[in-house]
Amino acid sequence: MTANISEVLSRVPTGLLINGQWVDAQDGATFDVENPATGEVIATLASAGEADAMAALDAACAVQDEWAATSPRERSAILSRAFDLVQERAETFATLMTLEMGKPLAEARGEVTYGGEFLRWFAEEAVRDYGRSFPAPEGTLNMITRRKPVGPCLLITPWNFPLAMATRKVAPAVAAGCTMVLKAAKLTPLTAQYFAQTMIDAGLPAGVLNVVCGNSASAISGPVMADSRLRKVSFTGSTPVGKTLLKAAADNVLRTSMELGGNAPFIVFEDADIDQAVEGAMGAKMRNIGEACTAANRFIVHESVAEEFSKKFADKIAALNLGNGLEEGITCGPLVEKKAQDSIASFVDDAVEKGATVLVGGEKLEGAGYFYKPTVLTNVSPDMRVTQEEIFGPVAPIITFSEEDEALKIANDTEFGLASYVYTESIDRMFRVADGLEFGLMGANAGVISNAAAPFGGVKQSGMGREGGAEGIEEYTTVQYIGIRNAYANK
Ligand code: NAD
Repeated sequence: MTANISEVLSRVPTGLLINGQWVDAQDGATFDVENPATGEVIATLASAGEADAMAALDAACAVQDEWAATSPRERSAILSRAFDLVQERAETFATLMTLEMGKPLAEARGEVTYGGEFLRWFAEEAVRDYGRSFPAPEGTLNMITRRKPVGPCLLITPWNFPLAMATRKVAPAVAAGCTMVLKAAKLTPLTAQYFAQTMIDAGLPAGVLNVVCGNSASAISGPVMADSRLRKVSFTGSTPVGKTLLKAAADNVLRTSMELGGNAPFIVFEDADIDQAVEGAMGAKMRNIGEACTAANRFIVHESVAEEFSKKFADKIAALNLGNGLEEGITCGPLVEKKAQDSIASFVDDAVEKGATVLVGGEKLEGAGYFYKPTVLTNVSPDMRVTQEEIFGPVAPIITFSEEDEALKIANDTEFGLASYVYTESIDRMFRVADGLEFGLMGANAGVISNAAAPFGGVKQSGMGREGGAEGIEEYTTVQYIGIRNAYANK
């Protein structure tokens, strides 16, 4: 490990953040964090158990009222300072993400920009959390609505965007006046730990944000969700875990936001600009090594342009430079763990057994780290797992169609409904297809559409609720209606 990397890692607190202090787990338990590019252990952190999780919730509940009573301007100022600090510390954040998750450094820097923007956006939204005022239709009441913080929240984040998934939840919760317990993914906790320290450095009072990560996710979420003081759970991760949490949330009728899995269609119509579509396909498929809920999972391409698109796309995929993301010139990193590498191999094997053709890639990279060569498959049929399940890696299956209705039918033939992409030069078709697509997000001639200003979220089994945009803060507030007698009514 180079001196520079050891120095970066030394900035990361290794304890649990409870009531403003970094502390050891009560039973002294720890867990290791690995670099997926080398298989090397890079850090050992305190592992929270049930007692630690409850201490974190106690801390959050103890300061909820005081925190809710702070002014929006005060909360906004903390978020603005945090935004500035994230910019100052950008290189540390980027290096940590590459080290623990594997994405190339240039992409990790991109995530610092994207993730940091949630702090700026919600600093701005904190002071614009408007209610309404209007007369009752009968004239007998003046009606007003106010937004109040929902209360203590449990925030659970995945490993694929270690900074952005944390800021996307923490920033609106801070803006709204909620306190929280954050549980980051065990595979990538370092960025979240460093982000929490950054929030403290920005002036966030003790107890507002508590961070507990550990060997057992359910040992943390179970007791916290069973406690009636918790008011909300916001989860980003896989659909099966989301369903488990929704069932647990029912017991205390918790507010829930669920950002779950995807199976995004990427439709290329015959009137598309093919070079632009190939460029968009690279972003939609290869951003984050394909480990994104928004990743294009199925390329649905009109038969008249399929050959041109497939060839140009495969050429670009073949030109990617696979390796350790910290090294110069690397454009595709490893998968996050061995299990993920094996899973990608099994998707491709299943497709090949059922008749798919490998245009490029199709195998693991031997040696240290969890690499899989970026892959393009043609002759793909609906019985293959690549069309039915979320691949979550660098594999692009191409399916062909002949009629617009058929493309829509294929696109919607999934239980998921998060991101979708459409390439066409016709504005009429763009809106017509948008009407027909059962997805929460649609990129029109654009392969990357995530933005702090946009309401991000899915339909069907991709979840409920929206993160980012004006909608993002609503997830952390509850509407109170006050009806005021109109003394002049009926006079
Ligand atoms: P995951 O569901 O395995 O884990 C997500 C988080 O939940 C982690 O912190 C994990 O420790 C925790 N967790 C796991 N089991 C739990 C349990 N029983 N109780 C409480 N917490 C539990 O998902 P992952 O592998 O980390 O992330 C990949 C998935 O996340 C993909 O399906 C992807 O599509 C989805 N994702 C969705 C979005 C979105 O915004 N819709 C964004 C990113 C990732």
